[in-house]
Amino acid sequence: MSCMFKGVICDKAFGDYYILGKELGRGAFASVYKCQQKGTSNFWSVKLLNKKKYRKVAATEIGILLKLKHPNVVRLKEVFESAEEVHMVLELVTGGELFERIITRGHYSEKDAACAVKDMVTAVAYLHRNGVVHRDLKPENMLYEDLSEHARLKITDFGLSKILGTDATMHTVCGTPTYCAPEIFLGKKYTQSVDMWSLGVVTYILLSGYEPFIASTDREMFKKIIKCDYEFDSPYWDAISENAKDLIRKMLMLEPNKRITAEHALKHPWVMGLATKNVHMEEAVVQIKTFNAKRKLKKATEAVLAVARATHHLPLDMVQMVNIGDSTTPNTNTNITGGNEKMT
Ligand code: ATP
Repeated sequence: MSCMFKGVICDKAFGDYYILGKELGRGAFASVYKCQQKGTSNFWSVKLLNKKKYRKVAATEIGILLKLKHPNVVRLKEVFESAEEVHMVLELVTGGELFERIITRGHYSEKDAACAVKDMVTAVAYLHRNGVVHRDLKPENMLYEDLSEHARLKITDFGLSKILGTDATMHTVCGTPTYCAPEIFLGKKYTQSVDMWSLGVVTYILLSGYEPFIASTDREMFKKIIKCDYEFDSPYWDAISENAKDLIRKMLMLEPNKRITAEHALKHPWVMGLATKNVHMEEAVVQIKTFNAKRKLKKATEAVLAVARATHHLPLDMVQMVNIGDSTTPNTNTNITGGNEKMT
């Protein structure tokens, strides 16, 4: 069998080397299982993708992950390709998703939020230095390495990522609407600064438990995003430090070239932990619990819709229509992936 993907193992089978274990999670494109390397006590995770259906997603994720090595990025060990499937053997992370951990811990403060943001920004700075733009940064793609107190947060799911040259811009529409930068909705060319917008949205939710561009319909949400229409509402934000708000303002900057870069964000006093409060944020935890529960409920529907959109390669103008059109459907938080990719 000839290999469809570069750098993968085609002449041997996954099952010759690993024992498949329980399912760990499921996304729009893949199922993830625990696995054990035969004859060892080493555990890994394995991501299974139907290679014909999701050829582009698999090729992107494999191509990108094989060239990355960073403590805040989930490591890809090796890939097996069979006639039907791709088995991606990944570092096993056991600490759970970002929000899951927050709602189960006893004490949660700005200091804890800043630690999480620092890990995310560190990972994104590394990606951007290496010409990679993630394009789908969201809380469910941030996983803790283990359950220990100082566990690292790691970025995963590079299926919508892209390798850029230094001056390259893109105009494919992708990502999850809630975390999607305005220039993407407007169909403009965009750069890696879209990742910093997404981190701005995640940081806002980390500190309040609700989305900055919250709305009852997609149409209203898109309108708010393209105007950068958000507030630090009272009473939720009254006790939050000015430094945290300053970082969010710099991340949620409408003009991409004025948006803070990952390198600069690493030097921001709030990210550096120099000006963060250690007071327990009970209200934020309550809100995050509600946010997380709603998100989980939507997940099954989202996965189905995301696949439909991704595999039909919606043309750019159709996705733009969502922005200006008359949709009154509720938010779906679904990945939107369009064709029409051009590098300039
Ligand atoms: P999406 O729908 O966001 O595009 P996907 O189909 O690409 O997702 P992933 O997000 O990579 O799939 O994985 C699905 C789920 O599997 C994750 O939310 C997580 O719970 C679990 N998971 C993924 N990678 C790992 C890992 N390395 N270790 C443990 N669990 C993992």
